[in-house]
Amino acid sequence: MIEIPKRIYEKFLRFALENANPLKSRKSWKECIGLVLGRISDDNLFVTDIIPIGTGSSVFVDITDYEKVFSLISFERIDKGEVIIGWAHTHPGLGLFFSGTDINTQLSYQGMHPKSFGLVLDPTQIQSDFSGFNIYRVSETTKRPYTVEYNFDEPINFEKVNNLLKSELFDIKVPLAELEPVIISKSEIEWGEIILKLVGPSEIKYRKRFFIYLELQLPYRQYARIDYQQNVHRFKNNEARSTNEENYFFHETLSSGTLAIFSYTIDKDEQIKLVLNDISITIYSQEMRKLPQLSYEIK
Ligand SMILES: [Zn+2]
Repeated sequence: MIEIPKRIYEKFLRFALENANPLKSRKSWKECIGLVLGRISDDNLFVTDIIPIGTGSSVFVDITDYEKVFSLISFERIDKGEVIIGWAHTHPGLGLFFSGTDINTQLSYQGMHPKSFGLVLDPTQIQSDFSGFNIYRVSETTKRPYTVEYNFDEPINFEKVNNLLKSELFDIKVPLAELEPVIISKSEIEWGEIILKLVGPSEIKYRKRFFIYLELQLPYRQYARIDYQQNVHRFKNNEARSTNEENYFFHETLSSGTLAIFSYTIDKDEQIKLVLNDISITIYSQEMRKLPQLSYEIK
């Protein structure tokens, strides 16, 4: 038996989607490769992590730098009994199978431990009741791959989890001079019923705060988590003055509405550019949401 925690599945799927973004041209897609760590107990394998180790062209991935690979595993993990129990890679849009190279790679893993396995994920194969991946081993005698069963530590609606989506750059510019129109490179991203948009700015008066709103429209009874990186660039007379990397943010929401309000002040002749990138959204049905326990303190 092979058991995979839901959060590790999500971690590897996120890595896969970052490198094979369904919103970007297939030409830019890359295969990903990771190392599977876990614990072995009798006949059972418990996956504890999948560590990303690289990406390759869309037809070939390989582990070439073993020393680097093994240095990724800390001694604390080894002390806790975690060992390499397999490898994982993606076939974005290519389907689930083991190529000739995959068979050879798998045989070298089985040489280290006979229970080692190879996981192949193609995110385009995901359905609400199918994870989008198969687990394989290779017969030592026939050298043919065969699939191995696996299960998860909790039930997963894979289609919903797959809505971990990556977006392209998302930015809004505020004008140089009053009355000049707002320059919007891309202010709205749409994935079916899900719409994420930047709205604004509110009325601009120099040296007074104005606002830009990040709004999300969700299907009924779904909730979302959005992660993004925020940058603010300031220009004066079209020359860059400063860039403020405000790093990563996330918001969680139960329904459609405003997720964030960005507020700035600008001087006359100043221009500001707000850029959100590395946007990812995870959509969950409300039933899947674990509500936090509320607690009150009386003083
Ligand atoms: Zn492959």
